[in-house]
Amino acid sequence: LSVSQYLRNHIRTVPDWPAPGVQFRDITPLLQDAKVFRVLIDAFVHRYMDKDMRPDVVAGLDARGFILGSVVAYELNVGFVPIRKKGKLPFTTVEETYELEYGSATVELHTDAVKAGDRVLLIDDLIATGGTMMAGKKLLERQGAIVMEGAAIVDLPELGGSQKLKEGGLSLFTLLDFA
Ligand code: 5GP
Repeated sequence: LSVSQYLRNHIRTVPDWPAPGVQFRDITPLLQDAKVFRVLIDAFVHRYMDKDMRPDVVAGLDARGFILGSVVAYELNVGFVPIRKKGKLPFTTVEETYELEYGSATVELHTDAVKAGDRVLLIDDLIATGGTMMAGKKLLERQGAIVMEGAAIVDLPELGGSQKLKEGGLSLFTLLDFA
């Protein structure tokens, strides 16, 4: 069994959540089982532990990107910074608004979270339209950081997000996809 297939077997698909017609890919079973969680985290750590791939800092996207990103950062012995939904970060922030299917969303980053020239690994659980990860990339780059790669567990290629991100110049690493 490949790592990708093993992990896929522990993702739960919830029909019609949060809205009718949506097949939500629930990653909580991956976290719940000690061994599966370890295989998951190691898949990221193995990619980024070598000197040439090692980031200076890991940035996690609210909220499941915090769970993955903080553990990966700890294992790589680098720091972790959160990119949060608007209104949660207490210090001065930069913000980026992006379009959703219905309405829009805004994410924020502390102005001192990264330094100019920092090589950042940006992490989330899943890429759908790519809007969230693109907003995170823009925030980090606005602060002068270099987003060396975006990483996620799941890609939903039919929604076009991963392609759009790659066309936007972001290198992407995902562990599996659902077509
Ligand atoms: P995007 O911005 O790429 O359209 O959507 C990705 C964001 O929405 C991620 O932060 C992700 O956590 C969340 N998301 C959207 N659909 C799903 C899904 O089916 N499963 C999970 N786990 N997260 C989703």
